[in-house]
Amino acid sequence: DHVANQIAAGEVVQRPASVIKELLENSIDAKASRIQVVIKDAGKTLIQIVDDGQGMGLTDARMCFERHATSKIKLADDLFSLKTKGFRGEALASIAAIAHVELKTKTEEDEVGTCIKIEGSEVVSQDPCVTPKGTSICVKNLFYNIPARRNFLKSDNVETRHIIDEFQRVALAHPDISFSLIHNGSELFQLPPTNFRQRITNILGGKTNEKLVPVEEDTEIVKISGFVGKPEFAKKSRGEQFFFVNNRFIKSPYLNHAVVASFDGLLKEKSYPTYFLYLEVDPKSIDINIHPTKTEIKFDDEHALYAILKSAIKHSLGQFNV
Ligand code: ADP
Ligand code: MG
Repeated sequence: DHVANQIAAGEVVQRPASVIKELLENSIDAKASRIQVVIKDAGKTLIQIVDDGQGMGLTDARMCFERHATSKIKLADDLFSLKTKGFRGEALASIAAIAHVELKTKTEEDEVGTCIKIEGSEVVSQDPCVTPKGTSICVKNLFYNIPARRNFLKSDNVETRHIIDEFQRVALAHPDISFSLIHNGSELFQLPPTNFRQRITNILGGKTNEKLVPVEEDTEIVKISGFVGKPEFAKKSRGEQFFFVNNRFIKSPYLNHAVVASFDGLLKEKSYPTYFLYLEVDPKSIDINIHPTKTEIKFDDEHALYAILKSAIKHSLGQFNV
């Protein structure tokens, strides 16, 4: 089983950023309103995530490192009406197989919390502890027992970039939650709870506001909101392109094409439009289970979505005389 965990870990955890993504999603699923991320050495030595969510009782705290011990799918039906981000119950088991993990957690109802230490899937200690409501998870020495994976990690700069990318995606998808990110003792982000527009500005810095054109559309198939950057602010790289479907960051070359097409000759060659587009669709009309890291999804009605998105953006650009 330990081997199975290590193999699964390879799929879920490619690098420190993947750990951060999974842990952030767990905190959000636990309805946290405040999430702090602390890393050392680009997450290679330490990743700590502290949330003020629901926490876990003793049994759940013990069970959460077991494979497929997810609390989130109880019926096959739940798969289709997915409201939570995690649903395979693999992340914590995978992470615990390839790192030193310390969990501290407490629910509202419990007087004392639970502290569990795990190394390479083995529980090394479990004690009651004093800790606030919520969950704190420390992941130390990632890949300590798989030297090949550890050596494969890129420089601290590159790994930190990946972490910032994941952090920003999650923070942009959940502007109502407060997030912070601290690396080697210095604060990279401190994001207060706010709305989408302000969160974008807080993340990307000062001048975003004058660059953005709002996009709104509400149809039977999809509700669209968000912003596209004016063509003169298009980038030479794909840096600022974000799709969120039901508050989950996704990659979609197909929908990206719809955005580019909507600019219809307004863009210079080899330039990429900036966009932050939030799509809400019926969860029954998508399949997010096609990729282990869950950034790709399948839409039932891709063509309609393409057309709606394209015309909504065109309309906005027209309205703002772009
Ligand atoms: P999944 O998210 O797919 O259910 P995970 O391995 O990520 O699987 O987590 C296993 C379980 O541990 C979750 O279903 C949840 O019950 C519990 N859990 C994990 N992280 C937290 C957290 N931050 N707060 C409360 N419960 C958590
Ligand atoms: Mg999860």
